[in-house]
Order: sequence, then C-alpha cells, then structure tokens
Amino acid sequence: MTIRVLDKELVMRIAAGEVVARPASVVKELVENSLDAASSQITVEARGGGVGLIRVTDNGTGIAAGEVELAFERYATSKIGELDDLESITSLGFRGEALPSIAAVAEVDVVTATAGETAGAYISLKEGAITQRRSQGRSQGTTVTVRNLFRNVPARLKFLKTPSTENSHIANAVSQYALAFPEVKFVLLLEGKVVLRTPGSGQMIDSVSEVYGLEVAGNMLEVKGTADSLPGVTGAVSAPALSRSSRNYLSFFVNRRWINSRLLARAAEEAYHGLLMVGKYPIVVINLRLSPQQVDVNVHPTKNEVKFQQENVIFSAVQRAIRQALIEQALVPRIEPKSPATAAPAQPGLPIRALSGTGHAASPVSPPEAPVESQLLLRILGQLASTYIVAEGPDGLYLIDQHAAHERILFEQIKRQRAQQEIEVQGLLEPVPIEVTPKQAEVLEEHYADLAEFGFALEPFGDRTCLVRTVPALIHGRDWKALLTELLDSTEHKGDWTESVAISMACHGAIRAGQTLADSELRELVRQLEDLPLPRTCPHGRPIVIHLSLGQLSKEFGRS
Ligand code: ADP
Ligand code: MG
Repeated sequence: MTIRVLDKELVMRIAAGEVVARPASVVKELVENSLDAASSQITVEARGGGVGLIRVTDNGTGIAAGEVELAFERYATSKIGELDDLESITSLGFRGEALPSIAAVAEVDVVTATAGETAGAYISLKEGAITQRRSQGRSQGTTVTVRNLFRNVPARLKFLKTPSTENSHIANAVSQYALAFPEVKFVLLLEGKVVLRTPGSGQMIDSVSEVYGLEVAGNMLEVKGTADSLPGVTGAVSAPALSRSSRNYLSFFVNRRWINSRLLARAAEEAYHGLLMVGKYPIVVINLRLSPQQVDVNVHPTKNEVKFQQENVIFSAVQRAIRQALIEQALVPRIEPKSPATAAPAQPGLPIRALSGTGHAASPVSPPEAPVESQLLLRILGQLASTYIVAEGPDGLYLIDQHAAHERILFEQIKRQRAQQEIEVQGLLEPVPIEVTPKQAEVLEEHYADLAEFGFALEPFGDRTCLVRTVPALIHGRDWKALLTELLDSTEHKGDWTESVAISMACHGAIRAGQTLADSELRELVRQLEDLPLPRTCPHGRPIVIHLSLGQLSKEFGRS
C-alpha cells in the first residue's frame, strides 16, 4: 500500500481508542469535566452497562452557547493555553480529547447553560459530526448524554464484559471521585436504581461511609499528614483489624486526580508491614498534594498514571504518614504471629529414628491399591511449628504443609459436592445483613445463583445491603464474611468464576498454619491426602509435600 494520510474520521476513531477503553472511561472523563467546571452536584446514570446510555448531569459553570461546538474539536480546551501551562496543571482535563473521542465512538448530545445566558444550548452529534443544534433552556450546568457506545466499533464492543461487570467498573470510577471530592454531592444510578449517594458534606469519612459502608468507616483512621508543607499526605486508612484480600481498596489521588500507582501501593503496604497477614491488604484513601511542577500528569492518554519527579521522597512521605496514623491511633495493633509461639517443639529423636524404616512399595501420595481401613502409607512422626506434618514414608522424609494439604482436600470435596449439587449448607439462626459497595452489588447481581449453588443464600435488602440466610457448612463458624467479601471483589477472572469460588472457599475452610493438631487429626488429614488423585500442589499452585529421599540424606551425611 502507498503511504497516505488517514482521513479525519479514521484518525479520530483510532485516537478515541486510547481515551475510551470501556464505558467506565467515558464516565471518568465526563465526571472529570464536571469537577473541572466546579460543580457541587453530579449525577451519573448508566444503562445497559453503559453501552446503552451514559448521562452525566452537573450544576457547574456550563459551556457558553457559542463554544459548545468548539468543545468537540480535537485539542480544544479551556484549561490550558500555552506550553508553560503544561508545567502547572491544576485541572483534571487539559488535553482537549475527551469530548471529540467520545463523539467518535458514540452518539452524543449536550445541553448546557452558563450563568449569564438567558437560554442554554443543545447540540447533538453522530459519528463525530453535528446533526442538530438549537437553543434550549436549562438551569446553569451541563448534561452530556452518550448513547450506543462502540456501535461503530464492533471490535471494541466484542471485548466488553457483561453489563454487570461494566457497571461495576462505572460504579468504581464514580466511587473513586466521590472519595476524592467529599464536598461534591454524587448520585449514581445504574439501570434506574440509585446505588450511590454522597452527602457532599466535605468530610472524607462521609464518602467512605457511603462507598464502603458504615462498618468500614467506623474502622478507618485519619491520616493527618503534614499540615501545609508539600508533599501533603491526607486521607483515611483502615485500622489493622480491618483488611481485604485484594488491592482493590487502595485509592490514590494526586492533587485529587485519581491515579494508578504501584509506587504508592507499595508505600502503603510497607506502612502496614507486620500488621497484616500475608495476602491481606488495607483499605486506603490517600490524597497527595504536590506542587504541579513536582508531577507530570501528561504521560498517559487517560491521565491515570503520573510521573513523580522525586519518587523516593513521595514514597517515604506516604509510607510515613500512614505509619504514623497507625501508630498513633491503632493503639493495640493486632499482629498476626508469623511463627506461632505455640509451635510444638520438634522432637529431635523422631526424624532420625524414622530414617531406619524400610520402604513401602507404593508412592506415599498416590491412592493405595487396596486401601486398608486406617492403614496409612506415611507414618506420622509429629507436627513441626504447628504448621507442617513430619512423616516417614517409603523413601525417606516427608514434610506436609497442613494448610495446603487441607485446602486441596476441601477443594476436591467442594468440586465433587457441587457437581452432584449436594453442597452442605448451614442455615443461620437469624439472617445476617452485609453491607456491599456499589461495585460489589453489581458482582452480586450477576452471581446470586452461583453463590447459592455453593451454599450462600443471599437476598437483596435495600440497595446497599444483602441478607445472608445460609452459608456453606464447611466454613460455618469461620470468617465467612471475609470469604464473601473476597468473592464479591473478584470481578475479572481469567478462568471460571465458580472455580475461584471453590478455591477461596477451600482456603477459608482449611485449617491454618500455626494450628496445633491432635494425633487423630493429623492421621485423618494424611489419610484424606493419600486418597486424593492429585495431591501435589494446593489449589493456588504451592507444593503440599516436600520429600527428602533416603539417597539425599545419605549424601548430606556423607554416607555415600
Ligand atoms: P479537556 O477536559 O481536556 O479540556 P474535553 O474534551 O473533556 O477536554 O472538554 C473540552 C472542553 O469542553 C473543556 O475544556 C471545557 O471547557 C468544556 N467542557 C466539557 N465538559 C464540561 C462541563 N461538564 N462543564 C463545563 N465545561 C465543560
Ligand atoms: Mg475533559
């Protein structure tokens, strides 16, 4: 093909791909525009997962009637004027790309009015071109309506997830800005239902309470940070007793711009070092105040990644501010012992004596040919550090990770029971209400039936609460709320959602490392392990058994 300049429509559609990845990106851009317009009230509506309709209404400055068309030109912006302005950006937008990008991949109409005008303006666009314009009355502010997103980009449409998943991303985007702008009243309607409403009180904790629920809000500590000096770090973080199983609850804002930052995530995790169990993460809402010169916000088309000038200064400022809040306010940190004090002392004589034993014929971890009742292939020697089972087998020493082993046993059991639709359930004496975030509510909506199959009978109870009537018998008496939270936080799975439910359930139901077990319990565990078809790794892929062969031992002791 010969080289030629692409036509404008094609260029716009290609460029739009960078800014508008999914419905939630449209919501993010429109909300940012409303915030830049100094709105105190922003209502977001989405239907059909945002593909059918997205509407953002604000009471901000509005766009002057004579400029509405211009706003849809590429690189048209009222926020910066010259090169130097790029160094001192204080608005969320500045690239002048959002409106034209959205109009390139959807039908858009805008109704807007400024304070001084007697009549507002209405314009409507299809395929990026204006199809209608007229004056239309409205109070000061702007309403942007986006319909049939990606109808003209089938490739993009194909990659979208279910409407509930797309809605959960929208809910997340709005929730993030609600957290960053507590002085703004946000309302979010998904498929006609109000799922989030913030009071606009100016107190971040009020936003936290609406987004994450009262229980979480009650367990948050204020990060006061340095008063006026920069970088300023303020916000709220969870007390150590409260944690989550994913990093989804880490929110960072730089000069109130919502960003993704591995650096800041690591700083936060570092601050909790030693206070949370492995695999647990805090809930963090942090706003970083920087002089605009200290940060480059123009490194990504969607502006959700930034470049800090002095990364290590920022890292330690965030880490210290959070740590300080934890030390000052969480007086008795609940430290989970890494190596439990209750560890049973290893009996020095046992493993060595065991080495003199002669081998059995079969592999220790494959099912015995003709299982004899309670006849184990492994001879249990004891428990090490309340975490590992020490056993002698056909060819040497076997160390079994008790948690990993039990996890695999339960995982297989759950899969089997589910296939036969006979998961054991435990009814709760009284239904237990659970608060869910707007994002979780969407996941729940999609998976009520799946969860019921696993023994969680849930029903909606108001918009932000559900009632739990039964739980899987397997995890009754354990922290099933934590399990449920974990499941509702897992939106995007590579594999089957139900598979990950089984994995999480097994993990939560399994005996823990650090739990001292009676001899009979050790025997039962090993017996069940021996019965398994595939006992070599736990469902997460970690090994269950470590084997030290007699040959290896002889070598180590210089016997051969
Ligand atoms: P940017 O935000 O980068 O300037 P956009 O394409 O998002 O670019 O918007 C273009 C311009 O339209 C903005 O600079 C602003 O002047 C105007 N605008 C867009 N949305 C609103 C709104 N909700 N209220 C007031 N003005 C708006
Ligand atoms: Mg913008």
